Amino acid sequence: MEAYPRTLMEFEQRFSSEQACRDYLYQLRWPDGFVCPRCGYQEAWKTDRGLYKCKSCKYQTSITAGTIFQDTKKPLQMWFRAMWYVTNQKHGVSALGIQRALGFGSYRTAWTLLHKLRFAMVRPGRDRLSGTVEVDETYIGGKKPVYRGRGAAGKTLVLVAAQEDGNRIGRIRLRKVHDATANSLRPAVQESVEPGSIVRTDGWGGYGGLEALGYVHQVVRKEYNVGDNLLPLVNRVVSLLKRWLVGTHQGAVRSSHLEYYLDEFTFRFNRRTSRSRGKLFYRLVQQAVVIEPIIADKILHVSTKS
Ligand SMILES: [Zn+2]
Repeated sequence: MEAYPRTLMEFEQRFSSEQACRDYLYQLRWPDGFVCPRCGYQEAWKTDRGLYKCKSCKYQTSITAGTIFQDTKKPLQMWFRAMWYVTNQKHGVSALGIQRALGFGSYRTAWTLLHKLRFAMVRPGRDRLSGTVEVDETYIGGKKPVYRGRGAAGKTLVLVAAQEDGNRIGRIRLRKVHDATANSLRPAVQESVEPGSIVRTDGWGGYGGLEALGYVHQVVRKEYNVGDNLLPLVNRVVSLLKRWLVGTHQGAVRSSHLEYYLDEFTFRFNRRTSRSRGKLFYRLVQQAVVIEPIIADKILHVSTKS
């Protein structure tokens, strides 16, 4: 059996029942057979309610427990369709788009589902960038320009890290940061870039001290308020990100939700050369079954006006 469907027809044939979806999740979650989430034992009884009961500690679990599908009232087939749809739209989808495409009764349902999928796009324990990495920050949102290092209402500061791959952009990482001080920027660099890497920034003081953290720090120029394209990779990523936020989401992204969108953008960007959309779907399902349980509050307390 192929790891993933390649066409819509293959997708429909393969996931034509709830059982088929469950079997697929099982394969991705426990590729080497059942593993008890509590004690690690590798044998279980299947109960008549479709649960798995650990033969050692008797803990009962389901295939969806601890994943983004936990406690869902929607059929898995619907989730699968949503994941197929999301990964097959080259530029991503808005909640309204997915509501229309899948025929959801409410915008809120579509919005919540989409946000859960974005959780899955952040790979757990994802690896950091390495080699030569350009780093800079950019403001997202708001209308008026701001001076660097100063906050502004309606604006969110994002650290952008782009790995060099010849003359091209390799993988990227995006992180929301509180401000442009060293206390905010340094940890964000540490979460995004492997120590030992070359980190290229402009002369902004917030990037001082990177050497002490184990990086080779290259300052491209001492002055920082210049219009030159000193960090071309990062600048390219920033313009693509801004265009994507405006194009796909009409710029209607709240600061409090921005991280989800950054995750989606990163997921898509880092896989942009992937030939097969089916493979993207496979990665998304794979990540959907390994993440920690969603704290319901985190999603449900946010307003539907994203
Ligand atoms: Zn157990």
